[in-house]
Amino acid sequence: MTSFTASDVQQRLVELHRRIHAAKERSDRTQQTVELLVATKYVALEQMKLLADCGITRVGENRAQALVEKYAQYGATFQWDFIGHLQSRKVKMIAPIIDRVHSLSSQSALAELERYAKPTTEVFIEVNIAGETTKSGVGVTELPSFISQAQTHLKLTGLMTMPPATANAEENRHWFRLLRQLADEHGLQHCSMGTSQDFEVAIEEGATIVRLGSCVYEPIS
Ligand SMILES: *Cc1c(COP(=O)(O)O)cnc(C)c1O
Repeated sequence: MTSFTASDVQQRLVELHRRIHAAKERSDRTQQTVELLVATKYVALEQMKLLADCGITRVGENRAQALVEKYAQYGATFQWDFIGHLQSRKVKMIAPIIDRVHSLSSQSALAELERYAKPTTEVFIEVNIAGETTKSGVGVTELPSFISQAQTHLKLTGLMTMPPATANAEENRHWFRLLRQLADEHGLQHCSMGTSQDFEVAIEEGATIVRLGSCVYEPIS
C-alpha cells in the first residue's frame, strides 16, 4: 500500500490530464475523449476517502474481495469498474456492484455474467494480445467467435489488454495498434489499454480508457 495526500493526487492528476491531452493530440482520434481510470489496488480501504476528496468519481479495482470491502464502505461515492482477472466463481459476488468489467476472458465467466450482471453493465473482453502463455485473456484467433458469443447476451462495448512487461513502451506500440484495429473491426468503441508505464503510447494508438495506478500516487518520472 502506498501513502499519499489528497493534494499530492490532485497535482498529479492535473499533470496526467495534461499528458493525456497532449498524447491524444498526437493520435488520429483527436475528437475522442480519453478517460483516466484510477486503479485502486494500492489504495487501502481508509485511503479511498482521499480519492473522493480529489473529485474522483469512478475507480477500477482488480481484486473481487477488495472491491466488495471498498463498496461496503463507499458505495455510491464512486462508480466501480472491475479490471483484474475475472474468475467465474467471483462473478456473482461482484456483479451487483460493478457497472463496467474490463476483463472477461473465459466461457465460464461469460456464463456467470449472463446470469448475474446488471443489463446496463458494460463488458470488455481481455485480449492476450501477444499470446503469452502466462497470461489470461482471449487469444487473437479465438476472439471473433468469443465476441459474437458475448454480444448475444451482454452489453459488449470494448476490448482490454495488458501487453508484455517492458521497460520501453515503444516496444508495445504495435500491440496497442493491433487491439485498436481488432476493436474497430468488430465495431467496439472502447480500448482499455495503457498503464503508468505506457499510457501515452497507448493513447497515440487509440486508447479510450487508460488505467493508471502508481503514477497517480507516486511522483511522476
Ligand atoms: C494495477 C493495474 C493497473 C495500473 O497499473 P500501474 O502500473 O500502477 O499504473 C492497470 N490495469 C490493471 C489490470 C492493474 O491491475
